[in-house]
Amino acid sequence: MLNRWRARRPLPKGDCDTLEFVAFPSSFSEFLGNAAVVENLRAAIATGRLPHSLVIAGARGSGKYTLALMLAMAQECEVQPREHSSDGRELAGFCGRCRNCTRILESADLEARVDGAIAAREEMRETDKKDTRVLVQTHPDVLIIPPDPPQLMIKLGQIRAVIDRAQYLPTEAAAKVFIITASSFMKEAANSLLKLLEEPPPHVHLILLTENPGELLPTIRSRCAFARLGALPPDEIAELLATRRPEWSRTDRELIGRLSDGAAGRAMAFNLQEYTAARADALTLLAGLQRTNDHSALFRVTETYRSGAEGQIKTAALLRALASLLEDVLMLQSGASDRVRNIDRRKDLERMAQIVSFDWVDSAMRAVDAAHTGMRRNLLRSLSLDALALQLESAQL
Ligand SMILES: [Zn+2]
Repeated sequence: MLNRWRARRPLPKGDCDTLEFVAFPSSFSEFLGNAAVVENLRAAIATGRLPHSLVIAGARGSGKYTLALMLAMAQECEVQPREHSSDGRELAGFCGRCRNCTRILESADLEARVDGAIAAREEMRETDKKDTRVLVQTHPDVLIIPPDPPQLMIKLGQIRAVIDRAQYLPTEAAAKVFIITASSFMKEAANSLLKLLEEPPPHVHLILLTENPGELLPTIRSRCAFARLGALPPDEIAELLATRRPEWSRTDRELIGRLSDGAAGRAMAFNLQEYTAARADALTLLAGLQRTNDHSALFRVTETYRSGAEGQIKTAALLRALASLLEDVLMLQSGASDRVRNIDRRKDLERMAQIVSFDWVDSAMRAVDAAHTGMRRNLLRSLSLDALALQLESAQL
């Protein structure tokens, strides 16, 4: 494991798309899960057939960004070490030490890089700020395009930069690699990207990361190859944690195995204490809603969540806990009790499943989802909690 980034920065705990960053694997064999998908991509690189447009789809924390960076390294590595799969195919790897690998690796802590780019923009004159898009580049032939704040969307200016740079041949490596880390595009940006996808220059590889492929234009989807990082089963994650997080108790590891939604990166960085605190509030809130005329609990909870960055993190954690509990209630109501994640609160959940209607849970989940989206788009305010409170209150049990 190349641990120096981890030593430099605390683990990311915010609700952002870079949560999967824990420690960068030193080879493909350290990438957790989805072995067949990874092998196919490595075999494609070994034969010079990495798709020019590739979508990597998977849940938050499933390793999309890590894999994209590993593919970029394997594509650009000066050594490109080879291995063989069990069925005899040649698989490309990366050395992690050459000039290309090391510079690409500097983008591993995406959150820190994005923070740096945003800070640099903040220091500019107002007129220059407008024209400056957030981009991350630690190697001349590899460009990373994160969602641009405050809207956290991929913007036209960013795609224009991609198109512009895609016209030039690579200068220090075999190909030009562009990694777009989210699929929330402004409309003009998506249309503009489409033009590039229609006729990608032969030296260009575009990798698009998404939690939700449905968010992409069908015309974009149809022009891309797909690699899906599926969820790992809870017991596989618990097993992994037994070796990587032996200091956690067995019960905690099993619980986290369920709570991390099959995403290894999320499991390794899981803050159970923070989660259980948020979940306690979420349960108070839900219990308050079930007692008629007692909506004060809800407002008491949200009231303490208002201010500052801390409130922001707490609010995101509350929303995640709410979503997780509501989904469990839905599982119980639909007879899939083996898929309940909050196994330590099963009794509370079973009680709730008997009281509330399927429709109520459904509308509550939509409300939570809307609040979450609102927060991600507008990071400095958590007003969406008010809307959530009102919506939950007005829904029929
Ligand atoms: Zn290398």
